[in-house]
Amino acid sequence: MTIPTTEGSAGTGAYRVLVLNSGSSSVKYQLLDMSDRTRLAVGLVERIGEETSRLVHTPLVGGGAERRERTGPIADHEAALKAAAEELAADGLGLDSPQLAAIGHRVVHGGLRFTEPVVIDDEVLKEIERLIPVAPLHNPANITGIRTARAMRPDLPQVAVFDTAFHTTMPEYAARYAIDTETADAHRIRRYGFHGTSHAYVSRRTAELLGRTPEEVNVIVLHLGNGASASAVAGGRCVETSMGLTPLEGLVMGTRSGDIDPAVTFHLMRVAGMSADEIDALLNKKSGLVGLCGDNDMREIRRRIDEGDERAALAFDIYVHRLKKYIGAYSAVLGRVDAVVFTAGVGENSAPVREAAVAGLEELGLAVDADLNGVRSDEPRLISPDYARVAVAVVPTDEELEIAVQTFALVGQARGALGQVHN
Ligand code: ADP
Repeated sequence: MTIPTTEGSAGTGAYRVLVLNSGSSSVKYQLLDMSDRTRLAVGLVERIGEETSRLVHTPLVGGGAERRERTGPIADHEAALKAAAEELAADGLGLDSPQLAAIGHRVVHGGLRFTEPVVIDDEVLKEIERLIPVAPLHNPANITGIRTARAMRPDLPQVAVFDTAFHTTMPEYAARYAIDTETADAHRIRRYGFHGTSHAYVSRRTAELLGRTPEEVNVIVLHLGNGASASAVAGGRCVETSMGLTPLEGLVMGTRSGDIDPAVTFHLMRVAGMSADEIDALLNKKSGLVGLCGDNDMREIRRRIDEGDERAALAFDIYVHRLKKYIGAYSAVLGRVDAVVFTAGVGENSAPVREAAVAGLEELGLAVDADLNGVRSDEPRLISPDYARVAVAVVPTDEELEIAVQTFALVGQARGALGQVHN
């Protein structure tokens, strides 16, 4: 979908959007003012269901307001959302405010059906439930968040924004695994991709940075957070991405292996007597950087490398080697590349990762300027020298803003379609 500008989008005087990202034991929330796209408050409730639950709330209005913290048991998502609503109300930003236009929910898996954000109704909720077998870790928590928010404000539009949606434009030959078609179809096994909200936002911002429209440019996006994924975006449409049926495939991540010979799994079953759940935990939680060297924070890994730690150095090299392979592969997929862009925690902050990932790729038109690469900034910026054929950029991601923009746009369109909005 094309994202309209904020102006005139909802048009009813309701201009705030609450973004909810519900995990299995946490809820992250942000309240945004869509008239100028600023954040009014951000918060996190973690360890839901434990004795040591914690809510951290930071109001961003009224200058000098300080972050507040509550500790003590928060039994479930309903209690978490109520607690968050109380904190918002204390800042004059309560969920009962007529200025709240909608709630936007991050939903991890939208399967093939949800190619764009949707206003949530019972039928949509059922469909998100039907996708639980392919997203057992994520969709149940997202559904709990949606149910809770709907119960609190049944009158308010609630929108689902899917992590997979941006990738639904992938051609069939990129999305299908080369396995028996009937088995694949029976179990909906294919490459869906994740982090789509970030890839969409960052690829669009990169086009802006280049002074072009998204339709005019081909971009390789490297989203390097704790989870990491690459995507190839041709003319604004995703044509390839590194995560697959689940977020396990692709790049080396903080705790995930990324690409691996699938035979490793049945080898471990047969030779090490490991169960499917144990191997799942091994590959998702005890692999990647943490498996290789014991640390998943790139800052710590760099510090250890500076002290001469060889395991940390090897982990770094494996991480960068994989990245390089994907840059090469996606250059081939795109044919012509206008920009390679780094984003998320590692991509935005680690100059050594950016430098090493691009080193030696001059034949592909890629180079990094050491001075530009060393600059620390929250702004989108180019880090390639003028002579480089392909721009290399750093563009901070903002998934919450993208969810809010898409939610607000959709609610505005829905109101417009009902004839309730005339401006
Ligand atoms: P998530 O996937 O949890 O959203 P983020 O995008 O916040 O992750 O990225 C978190 C990771 O970013 C950390 O694990 C760390 O490796 C890396 N990171 C954060 N800040 C820095 C920094 N200043 N330098 C290098 N790496 C950093």
